Amino acid sequence: MKGYAGKLLRFDLSKGRAQVQPLPEELVRDYIGGRGFVAKLLWDELPSGADPLGPENLLIIATGPLSGHLLPASGKTHFGAKSPVNGGYADANMGGHFGPALKYAGFDLVILTGRAAEPSLLVIDDGKVELRPAGDRWGMGALEAEERLKDDLGREFELLTIGPAGERKVRFACLSHDFGRQAGRCGLGAVLGSKNLKALAVRGTGSLQVHDLKGLYAKAKVAYAKIKAKPGFKGWTPEGTAGITDWVNQVGAFPTRNFQTSFFPGHRAINGRAVVERLKLTDKGCFCCPTPCGKYGHTRTSLGEAFVEGPEYESIALLGGNLELKTIEEVGYANFLCDQLGLDTISAGAVASFAMECFEKGLITEKDLGRKIAFGSLSSAAFLFDLMARREGLGDLLAEGVKIAAERIGRGSAGFAIQVKGLEWSGYECRNAPGMMLSYLTADVGAHHNRSWALGQDVAGSAASVHDLITAGGKGERMAKAKVGGQAAKVIELQHLRPLFDILGICRLQYMELGFEVVHYEDLFGLVTGRKMSWEELLKVSEKVWHLTRAFSVREVPGFGRAHDLPPARFFTEPVPTGPNQGHLLKRAELERLLDEYYAARGWDENGLPEPKTLEKVGLEDVAAALESA
Ligand code: SF4
Repeated sequence: MKGYAGKLLRFDLSKGRAQVQPLPEELVRDYIGGRGFVAKLLWDELPSGADPLGPENLLIIATGPLSGHLLPASGKTHFGAKSPVNGGYADANMGGHFGPALKYAGFDLVILTGRAAEPSLLVIDDGKVELRPAGDRWGMGALEAEERLKDDLGREFELLTIGPAGERKVRFACLSHDFGRQAGRCGLGAVLGSKNLKALAVRGTGSLQVHDLKGLYAKAKVAYAKIKAKPGFKGWTPEGTAGITDWVNQVGAFPTRNFQTSFFPGHRAINGRAVVERLKLTDKGCFCCPTPCGKYGHTRTSLGEAFVEGPEYESIALLGGNLELKTIEEVGYANFLCDQLGLDTISAGAVASFAMECFEKGLITEKDLGRKIAFGSLSSAAFLFDLMARREGLGDLLAEGVKIAAERIGRGSAGFAIQVKGLEWSGYECRNAPGMMLSYLTADVGAHHNRSWALGQDVAGSAASVHDLITAGGKGERMAKAKVGGQAAKVIELQHLRPLFDILGICRLQYMELGFEVVHYEDLFGLVTGRKMSWEELLKVSEKVWHLTRAFSVREVPGFGRAHDLPPARFFTEPVPTGPNQGHLLKRAELERLLDEYYAARGWDENGLPEPKTLEKVGLEDVAAALESA
């Protein structure tokens, strides 16, 4: 088991009791790490029907075999639970230094169960594990709590915290780390809050064994040099993901005014260049990263000033275009507020824009809120974020996310509640991007871009990397009229590829943004673990995990199926009003054909349920049997 710390920590918060076990060999053999561990353990150990915000839910923290080793961008950690958003499968990935510290403390995996009797802090200090009262930190912002806990414990501790949103179980509360890194999606901050846990602190001073240290050292040196020699290296790193803003707008995919349109005329005031010129103080990266995409900076607005990491692209899209904030300083401040309150910037931006549109349409009023709200107003955004994070007044409803809020508000609001499976849509409008649309609809957690980013294929047909796409493949072009044929196969390929990085415990951006070749990851995996697995064999594990997460949602969500893979009515009924994709509308018949094609290619039935023979083929015989007998 080279490359792994070799131990699993279970902590029952109700009993305050830790149990340390060897990392199961078959878990490592069959699921490798990270997202694979999360999916398998949720399937095996979560009591079926558990309340996502009850003590029986599991919060799983999983590193991968490559996490924490001296090789490029190996700082990733994966988190998972039964979803507080939709009751199905949920996970989120985070950069920084937490996962490496956990492995140096001796643990590849942590499984939290139960609920602490009082607001608490779990300290993992090498092999020692202790639950401590943290009532004095309850109510603090996530960033502030991190700072205070580092003061208390020592700067060398790595912290995972929640803000007031997590404490109040807001369904899009995030987990926060390293003053600006988050496991943002799926409301995992609410799960930690439901366990009465304000924070985890980890200090690890141990070391990890690898299969071939000399070989790894030599290979890692080559890998760093190769990444730095990539044509996109110098262009991409200074702005990070924010650098894609202009391109997404130019191809007509930039969410604007609650996804009413896909082109934001004011994009230059909030793009990557604006981040660098007006906010950035320094680059900030995760553990061992040669391409630090974090931009740590300072912002000053009419509401106040703050230090903030970012905004990265998704925050620019959902807080900038979608709320129509006018300057990068305003977007940066909105980003800071979300980080401090412990809100996922994607969902918080989406919920605020939904509320603003409801207000414009008279579905919620000044009487409901005590003030007016409007697109383009930082003060409105700040007011709404605070209201939701504290669940005050109408904020209590908005804290449930746009799907549930729309069900209660009614009067057609579900049509512009932009979500899939209850998870708010991230930063790409796709009425004219069928591949990206299919990616969102079929992503296991809901409308999240990180499962498969097919926008490049929609625009240019193919792209070796995002950098190639931007510099050569489609600047200012309208989207290609993609044919239905082939879209499903491409999306499936991407859905195995991208999550594989979350299994390995490594960042995918060097591959995705710069085209760093997968063969290097094969080599690194072999040198660390001693296992010879080709990229194709690793992708087979990722494929198995994809079927397993779908099966989990089938087991846990009553009536789960095709109806959960549909977008809101806006995309069928309202043509894009402005920009390069003006006039485009999603055709329902085309979408249904895409889903048919996707399900058939997956080996799922026409309702989107995995066929028993498909599950058996990928080694999930027990899962097939369990679903059949349910
Ligand atoms: Fe972290 Fe960004 Fe580097 Fe990836 S590219 S490891 S997210 S700093």
